[in-house]
Amino acid sequence: MNKRVYKFEEGNAGMRALLGGKGANLAEMTNLGMPVPPGFTISTEACTDYYNDGKDINEDTKKQIFDALAWLEGVRGKKFGDENDPLLVSVRSGAPVSMPGMMDTILNLGLNDVSVVGFAKKTGNPRFAYDSYRRFIQMFSELQAEDLQNVIARYKELYKKQQGEDFPQDPKVQLMEAIKAVFRSWDNPRANTYRRMYDIPYELGTAVNVQSMVFGNMGNTSGTGVAFTRNPATGAKGIFGEYLINAQGEDVVAGIRTPQPITKLAEDLPECYEEFMKLAKGLENHYKDMQDMEFTIEDGHLFFLQTRNGKRTAQAAIQIACDLVDEGMIDEKEAVLRIEPQSLDQLLHPGFDQEKLKLAKEIGQALPASPGAAAGRVYFNAEDAVAAHAAGARVVMVRQETSPEDIDGMHAAEGILTMRGGMTSHAAVVARGMGTCCISGCGDMDVHEDEKYFTLGGHTIHEGDYISLDGSTGKIYLGDVPTVEASIPTSTEDFTSARMQIPRQTPPMRSASAQRASV
Ligand code: ADP
Ligand code: MG
Repeated sequence: MNKRVYKFEEGNAGMRALLGGKGANLAEMTNLGMPVPPGFTISTEACTDYYNDGKDINEDTKKQIFDALAWLEGVRGKKFGDENDPLLVSVRSGAPVSMPGMMDTILNLGLNDVSVVGFAKKTGNPRFAYDSYRRFIQMFSELQAEDLQNVIARYKELYKKQQGEDFPQDPKVQLMEAIKAVFRSWDNPRANTYRRMYDIPYELGTAVNVQSMVFGNMGNTSGTGVAFTRNPATGAKGIFGEYLINAQGEDVVAGIRTPQPITKLAEDLPECYEEFMKLAKGLENHYKDMQDMEFTIEDGHLFFLQTRNGKRTAQAAIQIACDLVDEGMIDEKEAVLRIEPQSLDQLLHPGFDQEKLKLAKEIGQALPASPGAAAGRVYFNAEDAVAAHAAGARVVMVRQETSPEDIDGMHAAEGILTMRGGMTSHAAVVARGMGTCCISGCGDMDVHEDEKYFTLGGHTIHEGDYISLDGSTGKIYLGDVPTVEASIPTSTEDFTSARMQIPRQTPPMRSASAQRASV
């Protein structure tokens, strides 16, 4: 028998190739004694088997999955599909190289028409139970809709119409289908685009993590969030994150509601905040690098759902590497290795011509999600953005919020502007990774994607009109503001003005720590 399934306690951070980054880090956190909902990982080798075996999961692996499931039922004291108190799991993709949002993840798996009744009874919260079921069917069938119990019936009808069969009621069938869906998603168009952009080999495959659910959507002592141990845009020290009370994981990243800054958690749930801060610091010390974490609070109890070395802008990479040297966490050689050579090109992105900017008409301001300056013609969907870019236009992509399907359009754009979503929304994370300027969460804006116009600050901007975005200040301007070449920043205190003001030829003055990193 080839081992294909690993409990979280059987893994560690060194096993990325086999368990994927998410699985390896879940294992590491578990073994550090952190609060991680228990679960197991189906290895990337099983993904290779799946493709070799004509897109199917072989009997050997199936048996290992069901054995691990039985173990998980024992650990949680709950049965899969139980009509009184069902075990629910998430089925989470996780490749050896981080590809956030590019593949499928399914939450609340294990609900069916029977267990949802038990779940409602057990939690005393039918709204929450049906909301969870609704989310689950939605993720499974990739449908879009709103609202609860009657929607579930509609979802199931739609599912049947689309798939030609009833929505699977047997949780074990659901589980197998979900695992296959994750393996399949390795090969979806957006994942392929992302891999091409970052030179990630196709052969790696993805692992699948099956993890018991914790619920951030149980009421006002529950919530979910995403946080970085340092600022991923500037590298500044100090926790940087966002959360939503009474919400499930994907609500924060999906940018459906604009979240609260994490410091507000200190007021809402002070004990959770304190514990979170302590554990986050511990993780950073353990990995000796800035961490990007997902957490959920279920009725006052904190759980960590993910940690990874955080994606960051080139500026932040340099700042963080220098600070980690100053803090004695890493040495200078390691600091240099921490800077991705490709990312340095970001430091050379143009900024606005400050004189011209003074004359430009500012029409709004929102979150400075990814630095840089962008001016271009407005397009409202990925297809139009790609076509305009191919025709030689500079493009600014404007969306209510972005989702992984928008990746091609985001790639083609000079800048991205969204109406919803915070600093950790999909748009923000992907834009920072690509070194593309992004402003997110512009709630003052009214975006009509289908009609292809938006309104902001009393102006109506149509498809093809020029706007300009300053991703460092979050300011939005009318028209095509000219840019100037960038220079390497001298002082990290005031990066924006430093970058804009110092001509490229001037030999850069360096701070003590910057000199170290340049050794
Ligand atoms: P991605 O790789 O796209 O980030 P994830 O597997 O991390 O996808 O999951 C998407 C969202 O669902 C995240 O916000 C995560 O925190 C949440 N989530 C995943 N598993 C669980 C779980 N067992 N309980 C509660 N929330 C979960
Ligand atoms: Mg995640």
